[in-house]
Amino acid sequence: MTTDTTTATTAASFTELGLIPPLLARLTELNYQQPTPIQTQAIPSVLAGRDLIAGANTGSGKTATFALPLLQQLSKQAGAENNLASKNSNGNFVAGLVLVPTRELAKQVADSIKSYAAHLNGVIKTVAVFGGVSANTQMLALRGGTDILVATPGRLLDLISSNAIKLDQVKTLVLDEADRMLSLGFTEELSALLALLPKQKQTLLFSATFPEKVQFLTQQLLSDPVEIQVQSADSSTLVQRVFTVEKGKKTALLAHLIKRHQWQQTLVFVNAKNNCEHLAEKLGKRGINAEVFHGDQGQGARTRVLAAFKAGEIDVLIATDIAARGLDIEKLPVVINFNLPRSPADYMHRIGRSGRAGEVGLAISLIDYEDYHHFGVIEKKNKIRLEREQVEGFEADEQIGEAYLAATKPVAKPEGTGKKKKRRNKAPVGADIWLRGSEEP
Ligand code: AMP
Repeated sequence: MTTDTTTATTAASFTELGLIPPLLARLTELNYQQPTPIQTQAIPSVLAGRDLIAGANTGSGKTATFALPLLQQLSKQAGAENNLASKNSNGNFVAGLVLVPTRELAKQVADSIKSYAAHLNGVIKTVAVFGGVSANTQMLALRGGTDILVATPGRLLDLISSNAIKLDQVKTLVLDEADRMLSLGFTEELSALLALLPKQKQTLLFSATFPEKVQFLTQQLLSDPVEIQVQSADSSTLVQRVFTVEKGKKTALLAHLIKRHQWQQTLVFVNAKNNCEHLAEKLGKRGINAEVFHGDQGQGARTRVLAAFKAGEIDVLIATDIAARGLDIEKLPVVINFNLPRSPADYMHRIGRSGRAGEVGLAISLIDYEDYHHFGVIEKKNKIRLEREQVEGFEADEQIGEAYLAATKPVAKPEGTGKKKKRRNKAPVGADIWLRGSEEP
């Protein structure tokens, strides 16, 4: 596989990227003054029909990176007045397929595409399909086919098996958050879907991280892709802090911080669905109104809570990692890790919810001594090192912390005497502590 790496980082304007006037007019209305780095680097190549592999987080402007060229290509094919969908003889076709890992992201991406298409005179039909809601409405929406389909893998397979849609005419495939799709267990569904797609197509793959499974996918799928790696457009505006806290006092510290700083729109991450309810109840007793967001809620409840949170009607939202990816909540000021995420990559996804679109964001992790080791791992893997801070009245007992760390420290084996002296460490005795979920509230 040969790859090009584009190095340009800024373009003066969207016009220079080769976008057509109806799209440019919409971007002006949306007050997008300049393309983000990923848009500058990727849009010309995508317009030219190249495959793309992009390392980009939510917040980098990646939705527009694939949506604008997709709309431009499809609207050119559709011609000025005719709808692609109505022109096509095969009723249940789809031309541009965007696969995403979660229901919320499906809706969000489809809404963005529809918004970017506002001045295309309705020639492009966009439909979102995802699980958790009735399939009938989605089948109706798919009647006559659709130009762009944004879908989660499971529901798409269901719709294909009921003949509501066929993938044999797909011209462009977008895999959004490919790493997340694979880590959420969509591997089999993805393979089944990819087998139904035509060989000749343009493929655009976005992934924040590139674990082995994603690399395999890229080798299978992409042909001579343009390769782009960008940081989130606004990563420099995010401040990360970590507070050590006495065990059993995390809830009290959280309540103290929220009240003292009068934070609004605070997103608090916990590791288990039950913990959401528990923590909300405990905060409630301390006079803080918090709502929950997790996978056991019905789709209706999730949509309502999210809309209220986005609208600023809820000050504190307690969520599992379901909210860590993809949700575009503008200007989220504070993200708090009440429980640390299991994987270091998820730490980056969680904190990426804050500091969006040029706003200064704050990401705080609350750690007691059982979290120390794992937070060290998170720092190491993400190549960060944060100063431990304390809040008066909630200070951790450092002696207990040190004793605990010493007891759970990796044990170094005696070094060998051969030419290659390898230092091998045993797994830490307490390495499973962070796999347990959480100890509080
Ligand atoms: P995304 O990474 O696609 O989730 O986009 C993150 C946020 O940035 C969304 O609210 C977009 O509307 C916004 N956005 C995308 N591109 C631009 C741009 N060039 N200028 C300003 N905002 C943008």
